[in-house]
Amino acid sequence: GEEKSISIHDLLQDLISVFGYQPAANRIVFESRFEASDDRVFADPDQLRQVFLNILLNAVDAVSGNGDDDSRITLVTGGISGHSNLPINPEGSFIKVTIEDNGPGIDSKNLPHIFDPFFTTKQTGKGTGLGLSVSFMIVEKLGGHITASGIEGQGAFFEVILPLATQ
Ligand code: ADP
Ligand code: MG
Repeated sequence: GEEKSISIHDLLQDLISVFGYQPAANRIVFESRFEASDDRVFADPDQLRQVFLNILLNAVDAVSGNGDDDSRITLVTGGISGHSNLPINPEGSFIKVTIEDNGPGIDSKNLPHIFDPFFTTKQTGKGTGLGLSVSFMIVEKLGGHITASGIEGQGAFFEVILPLATQ
């Protein structure tokens, strides 16, 4: 599709609303704190949506084994300027989106591989292992960065950094 200026906050809010209609996600509490003052990113809307959809689908999977009323996914945005790890637009400003869940977390031996194409720990037929590799490629192409962390047993934590639209 065509690239245009997109509000990350609108996009995230739309995704949260969609998950609210899924029966499997009924008991998941979505918390959001949209604290970035500027949230506009220049991108293909479908691709940008895919980035966060893939992360959220994994988070929903991850918390699905939790007990009743104990599933939480938290989305937080904030500003960040002059991110030094990024080769593109080093002087520019970025938005940071973090997505955290209270599922089982990511085994430290798997963590280095989760962005690899076809890497999955899910049962045959339940996971293609492509979601995060697609998210990774889209974010890198936009000049951003995506990382994961999370201590086993304490949930997973994803951080997506994207350059803001320059107008
Ligand atoms: P898939 O979901 O098809 O397995 P992904 O590329 O989306 O493929 O994710 C790769 C792997 O990363 C998953 O199989 C899982 O092991 C791990 N993973 C991703 N997100 C989470 C999460 N929120 N909590 C725990 N593990 C995760
Ligand atoms: Mg997935």
